[in-house]
Amino acid sequence: MQTRIGLALAWLVAGSPAAAQGQPPVTITILLYNYAQVPEPELLKTRQVVARIYGQVGVTVEWAECPISPWETSWPAACSATRGLKYPEIRLLSEAGARYAGVGRDALGFALHSGSRGVLANVFWDRVRRLAGAPQRDPGVLLGHVLAHELGHLLLGPGSHCSSNLMRNGWGTRELEWAMRGSLRFLPEEAEQIRFRLLPGSAPGGAAVASLSPPE
Ligand SMILES: [Zn+2]
Repeated sequence: MQTRIGLALAWLVAGSPAAAQGQPPVTITILLYNYAQVPEPELLKTRQVVARIYGQVGVTVEWAECPISPWETSWPAACSATRGLKYPEIRLLSEAGARYAGVGRDALGFALHSGSRGVLANVFWDRVRRLAGAPQRDPGVLLGHVLAHELGHLLLGPGSHCSSNLMRNGWGTRELEWAMRGSLRFLPEEAEQIRFRLLPGSAPGGAAVASLSPPE
């Protein structure tokens, strides 16, 4: 955890937008369910972070804010799409939602995928906000990185934790600092795998669960 600064410089080059130049554009639409009622200013930062991280690997991210109550009468057409790699479902949940999900009390989120359908990830806003609060870190920016991590599980498939950077399990102080600096990102091989899996005809992985833990 203390020896990753040098590697970061390599990722800054290999994971740059230039790495995806010349490749066909790939677009995904996140179906967002904001059950935690994350305020719009924070969501704006979250969307910006996710757009930057996925833009670096050649993936354009669009958003559809989907209904969170039966009283809502209109929503984007994309909300009715079949869940899958190109239409991943992300739920922003409160602490109560995290407890209901039955995950460990320190988990920041978790992802579920089963074949090509039913792809979704949960992110726990109250926990992200609490983690951001001490010392002072922007909760919207941190939420964007946690969301990008969980979405990464959906796109990369089972067993997608690695020993460093965005897909590391158990972020340390260094990862949080990188997140605030905008340098927490996918490794080049992860970027390649994401793009491959989004190509038509790519077979997704089997059922699995992966969760992100807080700093060690
Ligand atoms: Zn994870």
